[in-house]
Formats: sequence, C-alpha cells, structure tokens
Amino acid sequence: MFENPKSWDVEADVVVVGYGFAGATAAITAHDAGAKVVLLEKAPEEFKGGNSRVSANLVFWPNDIAKAKAYFRALAGPYMDDISDEMVDVWAEEMFANRAWLEGLGLDPVEYDLVEFPELPGSDCAKTLMHGQGNVGEERMWKLLVAAVEARGIETLYGTGAQHLLREDGVITGLVATRDGEELMIRARRGVALTCGGFEANPEMIRDYLYGLPDCFPLGTPYNTGDGIRMGTEIGADLWHMNNVSGPLISFKAPDVPTCLWLNLPHANSMIIVGADGQRFNKEARFCVDSDRHGKVLRHGMWKQQDLPMPMYMIFDESFRTAGSLGHTTDSWEHLTGTRYQWSEDNSAEVEKGWILKADSIAALAGLIGQDPEVLEATVARFNAGAEQGEDPDWGRAADRVAPIVNGPFYAMPLTPGFVNTQGGPRRDQAARVLDTEKAPIPRLYSAGELGSIYSFLYQGGGNIGECFAFGRIAGRNAAAETPLA
Ligand SMILES: Cc1cc2nc3c(=O)[nH]c(=O)nc-3n(C[C@H](O)[C@H](O)[C@H](O)COP(=O)(O)OP(=O)(O)OC[C@H]3O[C@@H](n4cnc5c(N)ncnc54)[C@H](O)[C@@H]3O)c2cc1C
Repeated sequence: MFENPKSWDVEADVVVVGYGFAGATAAITAHDAGAKVVLLEKAPEEFKGGNSRVSANLVFWPNDIAKAKAYFRALAGPYMDDISDEMVDVWAEEMFANRAWLEGLGLDPVEYDLVEFPELPGSDCAKTLMHGQGNVGEERMWKLLVAAVEARGIETLYGTGAQHLLREDGVITGLVATRDGEELMIRARRGVALTCGGFEANPEMIRDYLYGLPDCFPLGTPYNTGDGIRMGTEIGADLWHMNNVSGPLISFKAPDVPTCLWLNLPHANSMIIVGADGQRFNKEARFCVDSDRHGKVLRHGMWKQQDLPMPMYMIFDESFRTAGSLGHTTDSWEHLTGTRYQWSEDNSAEVEKGWILKADSIAALAGLIGQDPEVLEATVARFNAGAEQGEDPDWGRAADRVAPIVNGPFYAMPLTPGFVNTQGGPRRDQAARVLDTEKAPIPRLYSAGELGSIYSFLYQGGGNIGECFAFGRIAGRNAAAETPLA
C-alpha cells in the first residue's frame, strides 16, 4: 500500500490517466465544469493518442434510444450478466447525445449505415459517424478532440505513466506516476478518471485472461499494457468483460516491431492459410475466417470468438506474390512506434528480409516451416483439385476466389492473431464509478473507454469510440462535481 506523501509534485482537481478519446473527453468535460484538470499520458508526445488515434475514427451513433437499448441487449445476448438496466439506459442515452456534443466541438457529420448484426432486434438504429469527408481513419475525429483539449489549455504530462492509486480512509486522493524514472506524487482533489486503455500489449494478461491466444499482438498502440487493471485490482476493484476482445484478426507481425499489421489480400487466389499441422482451417479471408464481425464467427448457431491456430502460414505461389502488396499501410507503426516501413508492391523486399520464405517446391517450403512435406503437398493438391473446377469443397471459398497454387516458386508467410482492442477492466456503473468486489463504488475513482468497457460479447463497429465519448463525459462531469478534499 502506498502512503500519501507530505507534499505533492502536481495538484489538480481531476487527474485523467491516458490521452485517448476517453481521456480527452473526460478532461474536456471536467474542465468545462470548472475543474482544474491534469491529463497524464505514458507515451511520449509524438506517440500520443493510444488506439484512438490510429483507429478508423468511426463512431456508432444510435439514432433511436429505445432501439439502441434493444440492440445492446441483443448484442450482449447470454453475456448480459449483471449489466444493470440503469447502465443500459445511460449508455443508450449518452450514445445518442454524442452527436450533439461532438457537433458542439465542431463535428462536420458524415453519416452512413454500417450495421454489424443486422439480424438482431433494434439494429436499424445503427448509424456510423465520421468527421468530414475523406477516407476512413485519417485521424480526423482524433484531431477534433485534440483541438478541443488544446483550446482549453488543459495541462498534459507526456511520458508520465500512472503506477499506483493513493487512498486515505478508503477515498482516492491521487496517484503515484513515473516520468524519466522519477516518481511523481500527483494529488487529485476531486477525483481520478482512469482512461488508460486495455491490455493488448500485455502478454501475461493475454495468456491469463484470454483462452487460446498464447501469442497475440496489438494492431494499435503498444502502450496499452493493462496498467488500469493492475492499479484497479491493487485497490480492490472488481473486473468485468475480461474475456471479450475485438479480434483476434489474421495479421502480420514483423520481428522487432511491437505491433502487428493489417493483412492486405490482393484480388488473386492462388493462396491458402494453414496451421502448424499443414491443414487449412477455414475459408481464407483478410481478417476473419468467414465473416468480418470483429473476430466473432457463427458456430453451430452460436457466436464465438474465431479460433486461429498458432502458428499460421499463408502458402502461395509466384502469381499471388506479384499480384500486389500483402502488407497494409504502415501508419500504425509510424504513429505509435516511430517505425516507418513501406511494404513493397510485389513483396520482393519482404522475401529478401526473410519475412516471407521462398522455396522451389511445396515440399521444400514445408521443410522451411518445419512441417511434414507430404501433408502440406496433400493439402495444396486437394485445394488445387477443387480450384481447377472453380470450387472449394472443404471450406466454400467462392469460385472467383480460388486458383490453383502451381506457379513456382512457392512462398510461406508466417501470420499471427492481432487485436483491435480488449474490452475488459475494472467494473464501472452508470455514474462511471469504479466498483469494488462488493459492487460498491470506490470513492472518487472513475473510468471510461475500453478499460472496463460495457461490451461483454458481440460488438457493433464504432461502439468503443462512442462509449469513450459517452462515459468520458459522465466520468469528467461526476469527478468535477466531487467536493474538493481539504
Ligand atoms: C486499428 C484500430 C482501428 C479501430 N477502429 C475503431 C473505430 O473505427 N471505431 C471504434 O469505435 N473503435 C475502433 N477501434 C477501437 C478503439 O479505437 C478503442 O477501443 C478506443 O479508441 C479506446 O479509447 P481509449 O481512450 O479507451 O484508449 P486509448 O485510445 O487506447 O488510449 C489509452 C491511452 O492511455 C495511455 N496509457 C496507458 N497506460 C497508462 C498509464 N499507466 N499512465 C498514463 N497513460 C497510460 C496509452 O498510452 C494510451 O495513449 C479501433 C482500434 C484499432 C487498434
């Protein structure tokens, strides 16, 4: 247990931990309610923004509150567990209110339909909002929030990671952070809002909390290492939704780079993906084996997280190699790690680097990846026999998506599961208060964003950013409304 210090290095009314969409929203709201706010960000300034910055910047906006509640309940399905009616009500109302709030910040709303589970009741309320015309991503929504934080002159301490929460008589009084190896004692006169993201970059938590993912890497920030979960449990916070993730998605991880890359599949078809046993495991696709619902697949009438073998290898021939770049843009590497890499158009540079292995025959390729040559040859031969007839009898790839793998040389590209984001963390209530294991609020401790997200099962795209705004406002407003400590 950490003691309150005799003197503080930094003092504020509201201390916000983590500068993504949730932290920015909590900071703006607390500031506008009259509180002095300090925003802490573990990453250096150039890599700020967490998953928020590199996200597609799309916001799920329900245009009907009653339908939103029905859709929420249907998405949660058997995982409604103890998400209270009050919590669902507040989520739906605040998600609806997001649009007006964003417009107040200068949103140029571009609205379109992107319904991830159209078969569920209430789904027709789902609209997606972008800020301004342009491609998905491009940080436009993120820049809107950054401009609002900067316009308010909110003090932001970069390179400053919160480590432990401080309490006196059970009440949160501040926290211990580290910057440049030094401890900083930070006083929160009214409250602390934890908005420091999930545990996508914490391998130990991944192995402890997520089934079947001994190795899975972030598609976003490498700075989300589950610190809010550790700080919360240290003071008795309850956890929820720890086993729910957006993902895993089929991705590529380069050696020495902490995050992974979206896979890019050119429209060429002489390719399969196999597990360590040399067998195909499903219909090959860019992210997800047979749907694109943030890693969830329908199995025997039930939605489940897709099960990806590890390791996985994409096996292809020369025609596929030369059809187009297999690595997506490297924005997330550059923005979040400083590593800029331009993937070659014909993948030749990646073959040179050894990221893609090359051999003159399928049997020799099997040798390079430690597989039984006869099994891999048989897998390729079976796929080829179907492809020659324009069929995929095993997994039902469409006729225009199959072509025999015959034009050597042949290639194997190791693939990995990657996360969009995790959803678990300290349990919160409708007032964005963090709850302890007795479900009682921990005084003056709030949270928002993907750290302890409300989403327990299926996920409507854009829902996380929507939740950042919804609960970020609640956390900021309620923390600012606390009576200042003496
Ligand atoms: C590639 C990609 C695309 C996505 N697209 C979408 C989309 O279009 N729509 C959608 O709704 N969701 C999307 N998501 C998910 C969504 O972006 C995130 O769930 C959401 O942005 C999380 O926001 P946040 O503020 O909770 O956390 P983050 O934005 O991740 O911010 C958390 C911040 O806390 C900091 N931090 C961590 N530990 C500490 C500490 N100890 N002290 C201080 N700071 C700390 C981190 O450095 C980070 O900056 C996407 C995610 C990815 C990776």
